[in-house]
Amino acid sequence: MATDGSLNKLEDGLDSVFVEDERLNYVISPPHGVVTFVAVQVKNVATIWESNSADTVIRAMNRYSDIVRRATRDFRGYEVEAEEESFLVAFQQPLDAVNWSLTVQLAMTDTKWEEELLTCDDCIRVFKSHENGYDVPRLIFCGPRLQMGISKGRVDSVYHYASGHMGYRGTEVYRTRGICRLAQGGQILLNESLWQDLPKDQIAPYVHREVGSFKLEGFDNLTSLTEVLPCALEERARWFGIICAECNKLIKPKEGYVKALGSNWHTDHFRCWQCKKVLNGTYIVKDQKPYCEEDFFQYNAPRCRACGDPITGGFIEALESTWHPDCFVCQRCHKAPTKDDNIFEFNALPYCTECYSTVTYGTT
Ligand SMILES: [Zn+2]
Ligand SMILES: [Zn+2]
Ligand SMILES: [Zn+2]
Ligand SMILES: [Zn+2]
Repeated sequence: MATDGSLNKLEDGLDSVFVEDERLNYVISPPHGVVTFVAVQVKNVATIWESNSADTVIRAMNRYSDIVRRATRDFRGYEVEAEEESFLVAFQQPLDAVNWSLTVQLAMTDTKWEEELLTCDDCIRVFKSHENGYDVPRLIFCGPRLQMGISKGRVDSVYHYASGHMGYRGTEVYRTRGICRLAQGGQILLNESLWQDLPKDQIAPYVHREVGSFKLEGFDNLTSLTEVLPCALEERARWFGIICAECNKLIKPKEGYVKALGSNWHTDHFRCWQCKKVLNGTYIVKDQKPYCEEDFFQYNAPRCRACGDPITGGFIEALESTWHPDCFVCQRCHKAPTKDDNIFEFNALPYCTECYSTVTYGTT
């Protein structure tokens, strides 16, 4: 592990690329190969600007940036991109990324924000419901609410010589941003596949739950997500609504929805993956995606060796293929074999005794 200020050597031919962040005065080598990204953004930042004085928002944004950058330094993160309200941070170790997120969420809630800011809906304080009647009420929301998405994958590192900065190319960057946009204010969502491999005993005190699979914008496959929260903010989860797996929008209380494939869907957003027809009766799942029966059989059912059509009813398995019962006939005279007939195989096709000797005549 690189220590602050130490000179490190990168693999993958990326030697001697070091980046210095003067504000924090530390040097880290940019992650490479399999990288974990965290995308974070302030929920409804435009509304926050609208409902507060510019000075208040500027001070709040500075404080937010400070929290993010301190955690980035403490958890060996690499700031890939920063804008007013959003950051993309890269980590070599997924564990660091998760601990970074938990730390930032806690720090945001524990920060003393200006009273003016706390009067706007998007920053308002929410207290934990009382325990025992004695506890000092614990804040579960306070100040700007951060949406966070975490994902891990192999990426290409792109070194920008002009800025001396490392950028990244690859699906995972897009997926991370997609997960972040999906997250609600104060929520940390991470790719299920990343969660599986984490050493859970090294994560800061946390609670977690699976939240289903989602069709992220620009992706055809569903991404399974897990929500993780600092233990102290556990009660936050009750404030999060349910999100439609297809359109990634909140399902409002009066909107109809269905539960399927471990996710929630607006009633008219649960559609066949192929023909987009709304599925309100039966559906068939293949590779975690729903299909109408017609399309499922059209695209996924085994096909008859003789006629090539999908087999949806009874079938015969023979000659290492599947056949419609009506199609499993002698390929020359088209007579169906009776029980006593012998079937002969020639070029993996069935023939009756008579036709077999004809087609093989001269070849054996
Ligand atoms: Zn929807
Ligand atoms: Zn269909
Ligand atoms: Zn057939
Ligand atoms: Zn025949």
